[in-house]
Amino acid sequence: MKTLDQFDIAGRSGIVTGAASGIGLAYAETLAEAGAKVTLVDIDEEGAEREAERLRGEGAEARAVKADVRNIDEVAAAFDSHVEAYGSCDIAFANAGYDAGEGFWTPEGKRNPKGQIDVYDMERWENSINVNLSGIFRTIREAARVMKQNEANSGRRGGSIIATSSNAAIVNEAIVGLPYMPAKAGVRHLVRHAAFELAAFGIRVNAIAPGPFVTNIGGGWLKKDPAAKKAWDALMPAGSVAETYQIKPLALLLASDAGSYMIGSHVMIDGGMALGGVKPL
Ligand code: NAD
Repeated sequence: MKTLDQFDIAGRSGIVTGAASGIGLAYAETLAEAGAKVTLVDIDEEGAEREAERLRGEGAEARAVKADVRNIDEVAAAFDSHVEAYGSCDIAFANAGYDAGEGFWTPEGKRNPKGQIDVYDMERWENSINVNLSGIFRTIREAARVMKQNEANSGRRGGSIIATSSNAAIVNEAIVGLPYMPAKAGVRHLVRHAAFELAAFGIRVNAIAPGPFVTNIGGGWLKKDPAAKKAWDALMPAGSVAETYQIKPLALLLASDAGSYMIGSHVMIDGGMALGGVKPL
């Protein structure tokens, strides 16, 4: 099979959680640009509808669904409505996530009194684990449920599930809130198990582990604070933090048959940050 043909997902369909902004929006754009039908899922209903409308304006088949990944019934309903609209679900990005804040360091590099283990707010901890780990599980769970029906529904067996992890799954990122790191480490291992279990059904599961991308996460500080962005650019072996378009080729690789032999991978896309050899400021 020719190389570029393996990337062809035209006519397939995919669902993306956290699709109203940032990396999830880039995933939704990737599907739309490649001719796949896409459901944009987000807790931000207005944002998801705005972006779906924009994609429709560009000729794509796109729809928006409001769902909170903390709620299994809402996640299940989003998948059911996707299958009802598009016949099956070939691709699912389990992406919605956020930083609960109160990192170990303040942005100025001082110890944050609210970011230390012995005082870390339990509600912040529990909500972060609920969104960033359990929310990914709920999405993988419902993706597996509908993808097992794909052969009966569309004649195409299996599918591709891609979870958004982080380089924080393997390195300590003491600038983000404490629960983010164990949540993403959990995502990394959850993907390994889900990949192992679901491979027999032709469902591939992989993770994308980004480093710093300019999005709205953490209140969008990399967008809003040019001095902070410059400081982070200087820290990155790649020379800069990333823009979301840079994640699209990897998203297409994993979503399409081009990634057919990738099962349980945790693919770093972090500008070399996790290598540990960051440049001095
Ligand atoms: P973002 O804030 O730009 O987008 C996140 C989207 O998820 C938003 O539209 C938000 O409304 C939605 N969302 C949040 N909580 C939700 C919930 N409970 N239910 C449904 N939707 C919800 O942030 P982003 O940077 O694009 O983050 C996307 C993913 O990428 C997250 O999993 C994040 O942890 C991961 N990530 C981001 C970076 C980065 O530097 N931006 C690095 C590594 C990993």
